[in-house]
Amino acid sequence: MIKNFGFKFDNTYVDLPEIMATKLPPVAVKKPKLVVLNQTLADSLGLDFSESTDELNAEILSGNKLIEGSCPLAQAYCGHQFGHFVMLGDGRAILLGEHLDPKQQRWDIQLKGSGRTPYSRGGDGRAALGPMLREYIISEAIHFLNIPTTRSLAVVTTGEDVLRETNLKGAVLTRVASSHLRVGTFQYIAAKQDISALRTLIDYAIKRHYPELINAENKAIALFSAVMTRQINLIVNWMRVSFIHGVMNTDNMSISGESIDYGPCAFMDQYDTKTVFSSIDHYGRYAYGSQPVIGQWNLARFIESLFPLIDQDEKKAEKIASDLIANYEDLFANAFHKMMKNKLGMISDEDQDKRIISDLFKLMHKNQADYTNTFRYLINGKFPQKKLLSDPDFIIWEAEWKKRLSKNQNSEDAYKLMIKYNPVFIPRNHKVEEALFEAEKGNFSKFLLLCRIIKKPYDEDLNQEDYTKPAPASGRVYKTYCGT
Ligand code: AMP
Ligand code: MG
Repeated sequence: MIKNFGFKFDNTYVDLPEIMATKLPPVAVKKPKLVVLNQTLADSLGLDFSESTDELNAEILSGNKLIEGSCPLAQAYCGHQFGHFVMLGDGRAILLGEHLDPKQQRWDIQLKGSGRTPYSRGGDGRAALGPMLREYIISEAIHFLNIPTTRSLAVVTTGEDVLRETNLKGAVLTRVASSHLRVGTFQYIAAKQDISALRTLIDYAIKRHYPELINAENKAIALFSAVMTRQINLIVNWMRVSFIHGVMNTDNMSISGESIDYGPCAFMDQYDTKTVFSSIDHYGRYAYGSQPVIGQWNLARFIESLFPLIDQDEKKAEKIASDLIANYEDLFANAFHKMMKNKLGMISDEDQDKRIISDLFKLMHKNQADYTNTFRYLINGKFPQKKLLSDPDFIIWEAEWKKRLSKNQNSEDAYKLMIKYNPVFIPRNHKVEEALFEAEKGNFSKFLLLCRIIKKPYDEDLNQEDYTKPAPASGRVYKTYCGT
């Protein structure tokens, strides 16, 4: 048998200042049963569960048994939740340890739904099967769409019920992340006013995610700027594929620039920047089109937490911070523009590019066009949408866009760009709901099919046409509940 399943733990978080975490094991569950194992991810991590029994695998992936070398702990953090500052922490997650893969890359191995911790507040520390399978499928979809994200290694049912609106099957997800450092982790240290811990944490984040900054003159500023670049890249990529995170609280924004914490998230079908899915987001704070400005707001909270190490003079620190934050708008606009140009196959820079892009947005909105399929239609005419195509303004727009494409030096390159930036498959909400509904009843065939499709989101030849269609008007799912 492969010793330890191939886990090679090398734990560093546990050496950070004591206030940052609480050591404790997961709370055992009654009857763990493995329902999904991500073989591809296991292979890339150098893990092998094939030599062991299903029972032992379930014991390990539920936290009932600990792997040698793990040092379980719950991390402390804060967060602005819908704008309100709250002391949080892993209320239902345990970091088992940091695993070094065969390339010596470091990965947090975390169990989510693993029982109560000192940070649970009123919660039960548990998670339900549906939301854990949702995180599994969406995080894997985001990964294969070529967007940085935490991954999902496995889902295990616990044999226990969790009480939400009704009784639901309990489950534990194994999450894999390049770290679980969040904006909220820095806010936590700042709230404790522990400057020495703040310095340690900045060094730690740089070493783990931005080693090129080790010799930066001002590490706080360098770290902030690097995180800003990655978070902009992340949000631009979400918008490229019509993803709405749904809960962009500061505790859900990672320092590595990975997508993290998939709760009431979803992909938009018809183009409308006001689209919101979360039933708890009453004011549309985290709507599709609000994500850029919320990204900036969250980064402002991040830099505030770094103030003492930006400059000892508070006034100076504030000035530096507001200048840095002000850069966000141009950086975002440029990154977004570049992304949209790629989606439209526009290579050189032409005066009319901005207008062509914004006109297309207006036309998609006016005609309730499916965002994903509009771009696919432009590639090869294969996903036509009646209403959009019969709009005379769209016909004029399309002719102008084609004329604009003729300014590219190489039409083959434009085609390649469009294929690369425009997915055929996004996990359509009604298909996700359908798969989860069946899986909760014990039938995993639709879930597994969806898992296969999302692995090849850019492949038009998959023969899964049904999965390219937006929900029929009667079956639209507008809200993804946060009963997680
Ligand atoms: P989330 O909305 O999943 O990002 O969680 C926000 C905070 O609430 C985090 O600190 C979680 O650990 C905590 N939390 C969420 N659900 C539970 C639960 N069932 N029991 C305890 N803590 C929870
Ligand atoms: Mg969270």
